[in-house]
Amino acid sequence: MNGWKITAKSNGGQCEHCGASLKFMWTIRHEDGRTMGVGRTCIKRVTGWTVSAQEAENALRVAAMDARWDEFAAAYPEQAAAIQAAWDATRAEQAALRAAGIDPYCAVQNPAGEYRYAARTGNWEFAAGYAAA
Ligand SMILES: [Zn+2]
Repeated sequence: MNGWKITAKSNGGQCEHCGASLKFMWTIRHEDGRTMGVGRTCIKRVTGWTVSAQEAENALRVAAMDARWDEFAAAYPEQAAAIQAAWDATRAEQAALRAAGIDPYCAVQNPAGEYRYAARTGNWEFAAGYAAA
């Protein structure tokens, strides 16, 4: 949404965009550091992003998780770096699988380090053969 993120929701307040009295005020933050407290309809006017109530709540949950991660990373930088490295490795592995034409969410690794395709039909069923990663 054009560099903006929803970062908080609070009860009441006055929209900083249109001045309306609000039941809920959404705090939005731009990546350049600007923040604004606005009503949900003014999220669209400011960011260009039409956001449903559900999407706004979801964005809020993501922001809360991001904030918790930032807090954790500040308190435990070594552990955070190790976790980040593991995520990066997983992402690289998934990219390699995709490049090999395998859906990473349907790939299972055997003890030999080979991947095989799995088609998900209720239970995991292993369909086609093996492909090297
Ligand atoms: Zn407004």
